[in-house]
Amino acid sequence: MSRRSFWAWGLEQDEPTGQQVREAAARLSQRYGVEVEPVMPPRAEDLRLRAPRISPPSALAAICSSDDHDRAVHTYGRSFRDRIRAFNLQFPNPPDIVARPTIEDEVIAVLDWCSSSGHAAIPYGGGSSTVAGFEPPDGYDGIVTIDLSALDQVLEVDDISRAARIQAGAYGPGLEAQLRPHGFTLRHYPQSFEYSSLGGWIATKRVRWHNGAESHHIGRFVEAVRMCTPRACGSRGE
Ligand SMILES: Cc1cc2nc3c(=O)[nH]c(=O)nc-3n(C[C@H](O)[C@H](O)[C@H](O)COP(=O)(O)OP(=O)(O)OC[C@H]3O[C@@H](n4cnc5c(N)ncnc54)[C@H](O)[C@@H]3O)c2cc1C
Repeated sequence: MSRRSFWAWGLEQDEPTGQQVREAAARLSQRYGVEVEPVMPPRAEDLRLRAPRISPPSALAAICSSDDHDRAVHTYGRSFRDRIRAFNLQFPNPPDIVARPTIEDEVIAVLDWCSSSGHAAIPYGGGSSTVAGFEPPDGYDGIVTIDLSALDQVLEVDDISRAARIQAGAYGPGLEAQLRPHGFTLRHYPQSFEYSSLGGWIATKRVRWHNGAESHHIGRFVEAVRMCTPRACGSRGE
């Protein structure tokens, strides 16, 4: 599967080719009567990130990555400012580690590790924040971004109450694909649907989308949230 682009919305395979960039520059030059120079997009091989300052405990090594591309993808959200910095290969404060827990106990173990070591722990859903929601803060000797995308299952659907128990990392399309065989839909379609997650929608609380005159709010569909916090590690905050 193609990786996420570290500078554009979507996947690497969706990035414009050199040919497309040159053609776009020519079209713009013609339309606006000025010379628009084509600027070639950055390549993953051009990334030069600060070396990771920490290593995960051996028990978590299998779910942790310190790959430059992975850390670049998890540094910025998707605002215009974010995209410009990424395009210009400006990554002064990337996460040191990207952790991808696959079960709740691994989420707790990563939070325990961060708490006991004083590392920043940053939840990450689809990465579509436009307000620097998961951008690593200054002042930490270690930064661990916790990417929830491997926790993407609809665990249970109750046909009678029409309620579902869904993991936080489910992106819009995957979530709908799992509900469809039950004859259900969440019917929540922010414009970032393709690359944003249920956990991100709920965490940012007021995520809404508009359908003509109607405005839909994720809070209307949430009955309960099960949450792990650094403080509640071990005792499991709910
Ligand atoms: C092209 C585009 C279109 C958009 N369209 C809309 C729209 O129509 N309506 C709208 O309201 N917003 C929209 N947004 C904003 C954005 O998509 C939403 O804020 C979305 O809810 C973020 O979800 P995410 O999974 O990408 O979260 P992320 O960007 O990964 O994270 C957002 C914040 O939530 C936290 N977080 C994420 N997951 C969890 C979790 N499981 N547990 C705890 N904290 C978590 C992160 O730490 C961060 O602070 C759009 C953004 C883009 C780039």
